[in-house]
Amino acid sequence: MTQQNEPAKKQGLVCPECKFLIELSITKLLSIEDVFCPGCGLVLTIDRAASRDSMEALNNLNVAIENFNMVKNKYSK
Ligand SMILES: [Zn+2]
Repeated sequence: MTQQNEPAKKQGLVCPECKFLIELSITKLLSIEDVFCPGCGLVLTIDRAASRDSMEALNNLNVAIENFNMVKNKYSK
């Protein structure tokens, strides 16, 4: 039997602003549109229209990271 368990590697996005690791599973990533960085308030928005194909074929979180648009909304409404 082969263990499918991956080593304890945290999945997530490293915030380009403050290097905070925003923990995020691929499942979660596919189900949400925006990722909010608790570290600095940066909002990352997934461009679903442009990246649908790659999102569907997603098997590496890094692919999704490349499809992120950075939106500098500081959540200060
Ligand atoms: Zn941040």
